[in-house]
Parts: sequence; C-alpha cells; structure tokens
Amino acid sequence: MRSIQMWQASAVLNRSPAGHHMGFDYSLNPYRGCSHACRYCYAREFHTYLDLGVGEDFEKKLFVKENLASRLHAELRKLPAEAVIAIGTATDPYQPLEGRHKLTRSALELLLESGHAFTVTTKSPLIERDLDLLAVMGQRGQAGVHVSLMSLDRGLIHAMEPGTSMPERRLATVQKLREAGIPVGIFVAPIIPELGDDPADLEALFRAVHEAGADWIMSSTTRLSPAIREYFIQEVSALDASAGERLRKLYGPSQYVDAAYRRVLTRHLDRLYARYGISRHAPRLKPHRVEEQITFF
Ligand code: SF4
Repeated sequence: MRSIQMWQASAVLNRSPAGHHMGFDYSLNPYRGCSHACRYCYAREFHTYLDLGVGEDFEKKLFVKENLASRLHAELRKLPAEAVIAIGTATDPYQPLEGRHKLTRSALELLLESGHAFTVTTKSPLIERDLDLLAVMGQRGQAGVHVSLMSLDRGLIHAMEPGTSMPERRLATVQKLREAGIPVGIFVAPIIPELGDDPADLEALFRAVHEAGADWIMSSTTRLSPAIREYFIQEVSALDASAGERLRKLYGPSQYVDAAYRRVLTRHLDRLYARYGISRHAPRLKPHRVEEQITFF
C-alpha cells in the first residue's frame, strides 16, 4: 500500500565525498523513494537506512522533504558561488509526487536567484512544466539536463522501469529542452548485460538520441550493490530465467560486470560515439551573476 510521509530535513544539500569526480559538488534530492520503480535502482539501498525494504517499500513508501525550500534558501547563502549542484542523484526529482508538491520547482526558483550552476537528472516529461525557468538558466550556461534512457525497447522499459515514460516520450522531451536552448544530454544507463546490450539496439538508441538533438551521451553498465543484487537478479530472472543466470556468471561476486565483457562493450560504444559525433561530456556550467549574489539574500 502506498504511503506518503512529510519529512522535515535537517539539511538538503549533500556534499560530494572528497575525491569524487562526477562534475558536481553537492547533490539535492527532494524526495526519498521513487515510484518510477526501476528494478536496478541503486537508491533502493537508501530505504534500508529507514528500516524499510528495497522492493515495494522503495516504490510505495515515499517521503517528501516538506521544508526543502526554506532549508535550501538558508544553505545556498553559505555555498561558494562556484559550487555545482546535481538535482536528482538518488531519486527522480520529477517523479509523480512533484506534480503536487512542486519542491523541484521551488529549488529552481531559488537557483534562478542565487545563480549557482546545476544539473537536473530525470526520466519524466514533467520537467517540461518548468521550461520557463530552465530556459532562462540553460541559455545563460548555468543549467543542464540529463535525461536517462537505457533502451528504445518498450518491453524492456516496461519491465525494468515500470513507472516511467516510454522512450519516444523522453526523446520528445529532449527535443523540447533543446529547442528552448537548454543543454541536454542522455544517460544511456544502465546498460543491462544480457538484456539491454544488443549492439544493433544500442546503435538504434544512439541514432535516435542524435536525431533528437542531445548534446552528449554518458553511458555505464548496471552496478549490483550487495543490497540490491538478489532483488535485481530475481527481477531479471522473472523476465528471462537464463539471462538471470548469465548475469550471475558475468558479475561473479563483484558489483561490476566482468572486465572482458566491459572491453567488448566499450569498443562497440566507442564506434557509436565516433559514428554519430556525440560528445561523452557535458559542457562546463558556470554560475550566473556571481558578483550580484550577495544582494540576493
Ligand atoms: S527514476 Fe531514478 S531514482 Fe527513480 S527508481 Fe528509476 S533509477 Fe531510481
């Protein structure tokens, strides 16, 4: 059964660990749990910190950081102007809850004023609601968007990401964001070995992303943390029992897929990047009106 709990967060910006090179300094996640319900989601593990399960609990026991705007306002005051924030590193900031609670929109409104550079990661067309704010900040080089899309295979998306939009809808979102002057890239992630790694399918995905006008693609294979490993392999096995067994062999006891497999996949991806002339990197974002931030607060 679904439950939504209001949550008073003591802090909303999380500092990236030292030595972390993901291109951001702080992360911001307005919600805990995610009804997009992706089977591979590593954030499922975070629900265990609340004594909840990694399965249905993660998808149905959701938490809303009700005081996000007031906390963020206070925390942005103390943040160096050059700090980069990533919105949606753990849960989708445009999952259905956002339609009602508008926490992500309130964060964008604050960032419009503070000028801090940021990215947003989502699978949801709901981001189009905030085109007005994102266009202003995207055009001034302060904001970029990552849309996650691992495959064009509707059946695979339905099975592995049951609460999300279909591929063509996400590509339409990419087009709209680009038309509004917002830098947009795609996370082709995770590539699921044995299910989402067919070379021809990956090529079709790169072609579609290129045609939609995305500026960059970042890709990675599924990571199986100990907390989600069995859950995920069972979900894959329910779809294709032999694929589940092959996954066990490809990962062995590791969180990461076998190195030989990775080398073959990397060679194929290298060819696709070259063929479609797509960058692997997002453009560097920059804060806006650094000298005027003092007057904001
Ligand atoms: S949309 Fe992102 S956060 Fe939500 S379940 Fe899927 S992978 Fe996890």
